[in-house]
Amino acid sequence: MTGRGFKPLKLDQIQVFEEAAKDADNPIRTLTGRLLLHTGMRNGEFNHMRPWWVLEKNGNYRIDIPRREECVGGAGEAGFGNQNQFDLSDRGKPCSKCRNRPHREDNRWTCKTRSSDRTIPINSEQEDLIDLLKWWKEGYDYLPLSHRSVNYHLKQLAEEAGLNRKVTAHDLRHTHGTMLARMDWTAVQIMDRLGHGSIQMPRKYITYTAQASRDLVEEKYDMDNL
Ligand SMILES: [Zn+2]
Repeated sequence: MTGRGFKPLKLDQIQVFEEAAKDADNPIRTLTGRLLLHTGMRNGEFNHMRPWWVLEKNGNYRIDIPRREECVGGAGEAGFGNQNQFDLSDRGKPCSKCRNRPHREDNRWTCKTRSSDRTIPINSEQEDLIDLLKWWKEGYDYLPLSHRSVNYHLKQLAEEAGLNRKVTAHDLRHTHGTMLARMDWTAVQIMDRLGHGSIQMPRKYITYTAQASRDLVEEKYDMDNL
């Protein structure tokens, strides 16, 4: 793994981070922390999510990430919390992330790789997360967040959780990968859920998780004395 670094949250960190997300006053912040932790969506996928991506069938919820979507510019038409509906968007459409894509021909967001358009089922036991998704789907036409503000909310959550580290959307994506590995998902299953272009990252999640659990056992039983 090169570039961004591989820094998934550890088990105890996941717990306090999730508690902080549940306790946040701003429901959009709660949604950001919890949905990214439980889906491993990329920042760009999350901040371009539209209500029609959230689908329900027989009480089961899922997120369908399309190949292309209209980009409403992250902050959208009027900015979150702007009750007078002034146009606060000075960045124009599409957002800078979509605008900078070399192959862009229109105001569309496009998913990262060929394997990125996918279906992500939401665990039905995550009832309050599903309620939050439903609340957003009914009340919003887009997520009032830019790429930067997603990471801002996560940074605030990490602080509120007392984690003493930065947490980005990409860290939560890696964290979700390790959560799947811990539940014995195969590399191919992990690849499908996270939309990876290759099997390399899923394999890394599995190796990392196995090593982390060996470390935990050694810590607990003091293997030197066996
Ligand atoms: Zn965009």
